[in-house]
Amino acid sequence: MRNSGVWIILEDRDVLEISLDCANLVTVYKHWIEDKQRSFLCKGEGCSWCLQKFPARIRHQAKVIIEGESLMWEFGEEVYSALAKLRNVEGWKKFTITHLGYGRKARDIITVEAPRQKKYNKYTSGKYGHLVNT
Ligand SMILES: [Zn+2]
Repeated sequence: MRNSGVWIILEDRDVLEISLDCANLVTVYKHWIEDKQRSFLCKGEGCSWCLQKFPARIRHQAKVIIEGESLMWEFGEEVYSALAKLRNVEGWKKFTITHLGYGRKARDIITVEAPRQKKYNKYTSGKYGHLVNT
């Protein structure tokens, strides 16, 4: 993953645990302009890209916490509908995201994992209950 200080950019094969603030989710329309290799926010009525018949697509933006850092993340409909199925804990959704591929052809797989439990074995633990390497 990369971040610009504000926005998170997922890279191929990133697997990250994310907390997402769905209480403050923002939905925008954007035009992808192939010639410029970037997207532009749709300005609604009178938008020059709309007038030139460039299709707009829905994007969603939300605050996320990844590895203790508070960042913004933009994602598409696929992720949005997967999020809708997740349980909400006080406005926050927690999940693991697996990002595969590059740029606009990338896809995201969302999974919810139970927190990893430390293996505890009474035969390998020391008398104070700490783990002992065997
Ligand atoms: Zn537009």
